[in-house]
Amino acid sequence: MGELGVLAIVAILCSRGHSVPTNSKTPLSITFPGEIQSSMTNAELAERYLLQFGYMTQEQGSNVTLKNALTLMQQKLGLTRTGVLDTETLEAMRRPRCGFPDIGKFNTFDGDLKWDHNDITYRILSYSPDLDPEVIDDAFARAFKVWSDVTPLTFTRIYSGEPDINILFGPEDHGDPYPFDGKDGLLAHAYPPGPGVQGDAHFDEDEFWTLGTGTVVKTRFGNAEGALCHFPFIFDGQSYSSCTTSGRSDGLPWCSTTPSYDQDKKYGFCPSELLYTYGGNSEGQPCVFPFIFDGVSYNGCTKEGRQDGYRWCSTTADYDQDQKYGFCPNRDTAVIGGNSQGEPCVFPFTFQGKRFNSCTTDGRDDRKLWCATTSSYDQDRKWGFCPDQGYSLFLVAAHEFGHALGLEHSEVQDALMYPMYSYVKDFQLHEDDVRGIQYLYGTGSRPNPNPPKSTKKPLATKSPRRTTTRPVRPVDPAQDACKVEKFDAIADLQGALHFFKDGLYWTLTPRSKNAPQNPQRISDTWPGLPSRIDTAFQDPTSKSIFFFSGLKFWQYTATSALGPRSIEKLGLNKDVESIMGSFARDNGKALLFNGERYWRLNLKTLTIDNGYPRQTAADYPGVPGDSHDVFLYQGNYYFCQDQYFWRVTSRKQQDMVGYVSYDLLHCPQN
Ligand SMILES: [Zn+2]
Ligand SMILES: [Zn+2]
Repeated sequence: MGELGVLAIVAILCSRGHSVPTNSKTPLSITFPGEIQSSMTNAELAERYLLQFGYMTQEQGSNVTLKNALTLMQQKLGLTRTGVLDTETLEAMRRPRCGFPDIGKFNTFDGDLKWDHNDITYRILSYSPDLDPEVIDDAFARAFKVWSDVTPLTFTRIYSGEPDINILFGPEDHGDPYPFDGKDGLLAHAYPPGPGVQGDAHFDEDEFWTLGTGTVVKTRFGNAEGALCHFPFIFDGQSYSSCTTSGRSDGLPWCSTTPSYDQDKKYGFCPSELLYTYGGNSEGQPCVFPFIFDGVSYNGCTKEGRQDGYRWCSTTADYDQDQKYGFCPNRDTAVIGGNSQGEPCVFPFTFQGKRFNSCTTDGRDDRKLWCATTSSYDQDRKWGFCPDQGYSLFLVAAHEFGHALGLEHSEVQDALMYPMYSYVKDFQLHEDDVRGIQYLYGTGSRPNPNPPKSTKKPLATKSPRRTTTRPVRPVDPAQDACKVEKFDAIADLQGALHFFKDGLYWTLTPRSKNAPQNPQRISDTWPGLPSRIDTAFQDPTSKSIFFFSGLKFWQYTATSALGPRSIEKLGLNKDVESIMGSFARDNGKALLFNGERYWRLNLKTLTIDNGYPRQTAADYPGVPGDSHDVFLYQGNYYFCQDQYFWRVTSRKQQDMVGYVSYDLLHCPQN
């Protein structure tokens, strides 16, 4: 907290002093809650930038090296080489850019120079609520085509298994050692070719993702076959610049896909949680309001129960019972960042006693437009930035995929691989990029130069479907958890005990008094998992769920599935053939058990800590040496052997031996 904090306090005091601040000529600057404050001095900003992008190392730091680092940066980015922190350099440091370093590489991984095969696979693990999934799919496909057009490389999308290039959207902390930084600044990053995280591309969810020129609203249903909204449009003689519910009684927002609805009568429905959800486990079904979650009733999408800030809803009236959910698509007026990401602006709203009917820059020094997401900012302090031009997902992805193929940053300002973002309307790959990629992979056998192509590719349009047609495969209700002699795995996930056996699972909440009925299919909830699970746990911090089966493990977040990956990658001894028990604790660590030995896993780095394995018997005295189904439940550790469990308290005292069926599952005793 530096000058900004003080200024903010002064501003608030001033605003109290003048109780009617309307019409004040000098706008007041306030501190908006939830905003990442940039209270760095120019020197601090420069030092962080030079370190972050590889121009300087931590050990250096004298004025001589600072001058050298600045000169190097100015040369690399095509600026005037002055060796001092001048205005041009500072402005460059504030521009949105790629997170890949300009000098050297990400320091925890050694990537390969290039892929050793030309048939590259990619998988989209998660989507952004900013754009329709079809628009995102299309942007990624076009971004890959930029590179396949000039090389022998081919790109094939896969939907399961481990691809070469995993693609995901994530907030600041998204599971690797390189966090993003909120709106603007870092936009995305990608790792050079290689196994595991190598070759993967990550996009900052706090950006507003568009095609570069503002909100893209793709319609569904209606009669326009999925065309984009046309803003502004005329309806009933009135002009609209965002989706509207006018003329409808069902509350569904819609737009015209031509300049005049009155004339052309072409329309479609806009993104709305009342129409569909994406991701989750509900196949796109719309939200059901109100719904019950954790005993509380919700009348709109919520971020409760999640740490990644994604808005979700239940697709049945009772989430606690049915566990069916999906993510809410953003309305076209949804705000970006602030403390209400994804919520729509509410007009009019009051701010410092004044009414606003549109987005405003009042209260901000940076002149960025913002709005409140409730009718009174003064009362609720809920706000976010208004949709702006946004960043072209296609352009940023094409750049990141260049890294995923082995390219580094270019010094040529017009090249795609230049580290700073700038929007170009009719994109063409620069000669510098072509030279770079063909140096790695050659030109291929296709005719070169390429014949001119139409630059506008129409978006894929699917015939609208209102309901899912996925066949329902009922599970035999006679499958009785009480008849299972030995479960494959037992785990406390999402607040309920899960009992896994042969592709099915039963759940039991702490409030349940009776044995669970109606098993569910593992593959319905977690597509991609094998039917036999050895053990599972949920990380209480990230809420990720980890599953182990044989030599493989999987990681599921609410929006993505990673895996299968080999347990050897965690650094387990080579002779380990499976993990039979596990639990995670609040300290970012999980314990993995395999009979007599156990390991401690760092959940942030996914590596085994030094000093492991240790002997289970030494640290958990009295439990069977061949325990399976080790899990943590309500503060106690459970070690199972066949139909029995041994319970160990948090102070490592054994306080109970019981039956899984009677004492845990509440099965009737015959
Ligand atoms: Zn880059
Ligand atoms: Zn990342």
